[in-house]
Amino acid sequence: MALSSQSIIAGLTELLGPSAVIGEVARMGAFLIEPRKRFHQTATAIVLPQTVAQVQAIVRFAAEHRLRLIPQGGNTGLVGGQVPRFGDEIIVSTINLNRVRSVDAAAGHMTVESGVILQEAHAAAEAAGAIFPLWLASQGSARIGGVLSSNAGGVNVLAYGNARDLTMGVEAVLADGRLYQGLNSLKKDNTGYDLKDLLVGAEGTLGIITAATLKIFPQPEDYETAIVSLSNLDAALNLFEFLRARARRRLSAFEIVPALGLEMQLRHGMLARDPTPGPSPWYALIEVSRLTKGASGTLKTAIEAAFSVGLLDNAVFAESIADRALMWAFREQMSEVQSKEGASIKHDVSVPIDDVPQLIAEGVAAAERLVPGIRAVPFGHLGDGNIHFNFSQPLGADAKAFMEASDEVVHEAIYEIVLRLGGSISAEHGIGQLKTALLKQVKDPVALEMMRAIKQALDPLGILNPGKLLD
Ligand SMILES: Cc1cc2nc3c(=O)[nH]c(=O)nc-3n(C[C@H](O)[C@H](O)[C@H](O)COP(=O)(O)OP(=O)(O)OC[C@H]3O[C@@H](n4cnc5c(N)ncnc54)[C@H](O)[C@@H]3O)c2cc1C
Repeated sequence: MALSSQSIIAGLTELLGPSAVIGEVARMGAFLIEPRKRFHQTATAIVLPQTVAQVQAIVRFAAEHRLRLIPQGGNTGLVGGQVPRFGDEIIVSTINLNRVRSVDAAAGHMTVESGVILQEAHAAAEAAGAIFPLWLASQGSARIGGVLSSNAGGVNVLAYGNARDLTMGVEAVLADGRLYQGLNSLKKDNTGYDLKDLLVGAEGTLGIITAATLKIFPQPEDYETAIVSLSNLDAALNLFEFLRARARRRLSAFEIVPALGLEMQLRHGMLARDPTPGPSPWYALIEVSRLTKGASGTLKTAIEAAFSVGLLDNAVFAESIADRALMWAFREQMSEVQSKEGASIKHDVSVPIDDVPQLIAEGVAAAERLVPGIRAVPFGHLGDGNIHFNFSQPLGADAKAFMEASDEVVHEAIYEIVLRLGGSISAEHGIGQLKTALLKQVKDPVALEMMRAIKQALDPLGILNPGKLLD
């Protein structure tokens, strides 16, 4: 017989103690409200384990009583993977699983628990003279378990790769409560399937990650940062290729922002001053890291060379830490500024890098045809072929009416172009509950069958994050 909510809360309280269980809906807000405010379900309870053994106890209890669990980290996910879909789930928050277990800068790795905030992981690496080079605008809230489970990317993928590339090993509680002890720091281990890579990017559907061993790198001596102005995206692409050929792996960021992004941020007083070289249709924020101060081949030299062959219109270089911070704020405030401009339709897509200009040209034309007055604000990681292809509502439009009339039709138009160009409907943010139906339509059927077989093998009762990723 199914347990009542009261019995579930009582059972969990017995396992964890009263301070680690939230059963009143009035106290659940911070765990239920996600950044895009698209999903509005409640939960049976929120549990806040402090130890791996407590996570195991929760999962065993859930398996015994067929209860649905949702792992949650910083609750910054953008596709609703970390919040309930059905309303009766139990959210397993990792916020109290927050210890840095070890940092070994010489060996190039650190081991942290899944509830460590990304920014705290940065600080732990820096205290040891190293960097953990995964930077996201949400790093003050996102936690390692969530970052790994969504295989987050961010602004440094060019040089260091995404979360999967930066993970050496994981420890996770499986759907029957067993502990997978996969924390290792081996560079080479060819002993079968890569189970770590299954858990990274699984969006909490195969296990609850409790800790991870992450790669860390020597701290660069300094960074060179610039914003350049460009008349079009073909020019941006040419400049990217020119700089990559010179800086190679030291080119750590190449991010594009359209003129409208600057206009919006200035209008809302979000920038102390204009960080760009002056009016232009497009800007690129470019960063190069240097391991040795004064090494030859600086960004300035490369940009001057690019300028002399007509690859860019103008450039401004950060001369201080404050300049660099302002340039990065300009890039990182792009999501936030859109929320100040009313409703927006968002796509996190990728295409082969060479096709980014075509994607944006065709996508903007299609959306403007479908919704007169819609304002295209595509921005992001040009160097990874990953664009946050967003559209703000027409000026003065009613937000609700705009979303009701336009959300689906604009999605359809953009995804059609993305798929035609051989791209992905989710480059960074994952599938969650937002894109499960879409995934079913566009993913290779054999790949979907393999994914379902893995889910069935590891979670036969379907208790881990049901209704997410796979329907
Ligand atoms: C302002 C902003 C900027 C962002 N920028 C980027 C960006 O540049 N690049 C990018 O890739 N993403 C970006 N994101 C989204 C990104 O997915 C999250 O910020 C982050 O990776 C998720 O971490 P989290 O701890 O908040 O996870 P949550 O939101 O709590 O969870 C995300 C998913 O992981 C699962 N999960 C969480 N913890 C665990 C665990 N311990 N074990 C198993 N599963 C778990 C959840 O069930 C859910 O499916 C951004 C988000 C915001 C709000």
